[in-house]
Amino acid sequence: MRRMAGVFTVLMVAASATPSHAAGRAGGQIGGIVKRAQQFHDLQITDEDEQKIGAAVSEKIRERYGVVQDPAIHKYVTLVGSALTQHSERPQIAWKFIVLDTDGVNALAAPGGYVHITRGALSLMHNEAELADVLGHEIIHVTEKHTLRAIQKGKAIQMGADETMASPGIFNKIVDKATEAVMAGFGRGEELEADEKGIVVASKTGYDPKGLGAFLSTLAERNKNSSSKNGLFASHPEMDERLKKLDGTIASQKLAGAAVVEARFHENVTYKPVPLASVTTVEKGAAGLAGESGKADDSSKKDDKKSDDKPADDGKKKKGFGLSKLMGGGGSSSTEQKAPETTGSQAARGVDTERNAKGGSNPAMVTVKVTPAEITAFKKDGKLS
Ligand SMILES: [Zn+2]
Repeated sequence: MRRMAGVFTVLMVAASATPSHAAGRAGGQIGGIVKRAQQFHDLQITDEDEQKIGAAVSEKIRERYGVVQDPAIHKYVTLVGSALTQHSERPQIAWKFIVLDTDGVNALAAPGGYVHITRGALSLMHNEAELADVLGHEIIHVTEKHTLRAIQKGKAIQMGADETMASPGIFNKIVDKATEAVMAGFGRGEELEADEKGIVVASKTGYDPKGLGAFLSTLAERNKNSSSKNGLFASHPEMDERLKKLDGTIASQKLAGAAVVEARFHENVTYKPVPLASVTTVEKGAAGLAGESGKADDSSKKDDKKSDDKPADDGKKKKGFGLSKLMGGGGSSSTEQKAPETTGSQAARGVDTERNAKGGSNPAMVTVKVTPAEITAFKKDGKLS
């Protein structure tokens, strides 16, 4: 994380800035006011700004999938998450762990410490180590600021010379781009980094780092008959490569975390997995945040008889899916209610069933309080560190 600080510390030069220090950056222009369009990647993003962006992104995610209105499950996931973040590079930020109300298997990290995991993902796990390793992966997306880095790299946000982060148009644009990045998943490099550093954090916390590989294998099994990669791993590197790299990390870094914590996990997580073919999805467009996985989807949808459709863009990973368009003004719940629901068949057509999965209707965050003493007791009980 430290090495990334430079990305965010280039100060922006506004039209109104005094020319004296702007001159140096503009190649020796002296005197006149330096006017230039700002790029988002020049913008300094404070922790506070990051928090605001993350809160807005989380709200969109919660509106799309709903939140499980159960304090007990939130408390449990928050305790696991809190034990982990103590060993992360940003223990001080206001981490939030949110359980999304959908059968789709997914986990999504928004800037500023908003970590979301779906009911469907929890239902597929066998023990607390698997949960911790997946949360560890998401925590790294936050600590390494992968979302902000992705949209800054994209240069998609051009700012007027006198606009700032606080300008409503700019803020909304940033939130749309950030949500899009979070939903689409990150690049191969970021995903492998999150895998590796995530299991290091989990192992430092005492958890068995092999949980991530175990969960990924379960997911691969779940998706073996699907013609597209789904949800959590839609844009992730090939599974074999990931599993191999995970084993390599465990060996080379001598990761010795041994806690699996199976009994406590099952006391707290009782969701039953819904097979991919039975996951109810909402149609594109009406689903708001639903991730479109490919163009083939558009055509196949118009003709349901083409059940043997192979996605034309098989293998190509769609980066964005026009979130701002889908979610922008008026993308309201009234549209959502009209959303036709389908079950199963989409998976065979290469549609990302996990991400298109229907969600619950209540986006309200479930606030749980976890005291330092409770975290200590939780760690002791699980033989964590
Ligand atoms: Zn990831």
